[in-house]
Amino acid sequence: MSKIDPFNDELLAFLAASPTPFHAVESMSALLRDNGFKQLNEDDSWTLSAGKYFVTRNGSAIVAFINGSQDIEQTGIRMVGAHTDSPCLKVKPKPEKRMGDYLNLGVEVYGGVLLNPWFDRDLSIAGRVTVETAEEQLTSRLINFKRAVATIPSLAIHLDREANTNRTINSQTDIPPLIMKGKGDETFSDILMAQIGDEHPDLAVKKIHGWELCFYDTQVAATNGLNNEFIAGARLDNLLSCFTGLKALINADETLTSMLVCNDHEEVGSASAEGAEGPFLASIIDRLIGGGEKRHRTIARSLMISADNAHGIHPNYSDRHDPNHGPLLNEGPVIKINANQRYATNSETSSYFSYLCAKHDVPCQSFVVRTDMGCGSTIGPITAKELGVKTLDVGVPTFGMHSIRELAGRNDAFHLYTVLTAFYQDPKILQ
Ligand code: ZN
Repeated sequence: MSKIDPFNDELLAFLAASPTPFHAVESMSALLRDNGFKQLNEDDSWTLSAGKYFVTRNGSAIVAFINGSQDIEQTGIRMVGAHTDSPCLKVKPKPEKRMGDYLNLGVEVYGGVLLNPWFDRDLSIAGRVTVETAEEQLTSRLINFKRAVATIPSLAIHLDREANTNRTINSQTDIPPLIMKGKGDETFSDILMAQIGDEHPDLAVKKIHGWELCFYDTQVAATNGLNNEFIAGARLDNLLSCFTGLKALINADETLTSMLVCNDHEEVGSASAEGAEGPFLASIIDRLIGGGEKRHRTIARSLMISADNAHGIHPNYSDRHDPNHGPLLNEGPVIKINANQRYATNSETSSYFSYLCAKHDVPCQSFVVRTDMGCGSTIGPITAKELGVKTLDVGVPTFGMHSIRELAGRNDAFHLYTVLTAFYQDPKILQ
């Protein structure tokens, strides 16, 4: 158990450094480089020998892989999938909304944001900005204000006596964050220009052409609970799984071929060039093994573990769960099962996972939604459909999924890491 705290410290640092998918991919790329993985560019010609590689797409999705020395047609590929994006508020292209001297910024709601917890938080802004340089070249840079620069103040209860029983949120009018008060006609571009100057002083910017910027909570992830039994933070869904998969891949058996794919756009349906429904992963597999007989045999011997957080049974709302399938925090990763294929798990893939957990002293739980309720989904079924690979969906149990501050168990990321490491080192996988 003594390994858990150092692992969680690294996880918390990763979460703090990764307020957006772009920053998450940058953080993951740095960790991969530090561990001997070589970056490939999609527009280069590849000649792959045995070794460790990674590829990014759009700066927001990443595939890291080990091209093992053993025959891939015999060993198959051990794949772990996760996603880099989280529900958030994104700054509109023309965001300025003025009321007197107040400047608020119009936002789009990205994914299924739980909006209530966004009020009265100390918000910052981070993401990617694309600029034209003094030499008339377009180039993109990541920026991160890091400090609190905005907030969404609640309306006082005195002005809405029904607030605790009947307040609804209009996402067009109620949530534009307040960023400043001051006379003048400063635009958001002006604010950004100053920030780029601070963060990238060597870049001579002629004009800002576009951005993809998210608001995020400046309160960093931290342990919580009287005995530190929880981790609270933003983006646990699903950067916890990205980090856990990455740490496991770094420990993989290098004679076997293993892969980690972290897609963007899961929270909005995965249909994009860098989403799980896009061709990113398939294109890496094409370039690694080609087509025809070799590809079909390899895929038939491969397995994908899709890791995305699960719903722990909430003590105040236990009736929202099937009583026999209420995962508990700190009691291990959850196998997600759905007869209607909202999850890709089947009895063989789930049995493999529970077998692996038992073999490595990792507790394991299962989740099935109440039969009278709808079920969420994730990248597992999409990847299974795109590649035809055996797949299962798992994830650590959490509370408050899609809140600005989610809650997970202190032990569960490490539990998941232990079993994913075992997977990446297992010569047999379901064969
Ligand atoms: Zn997720």
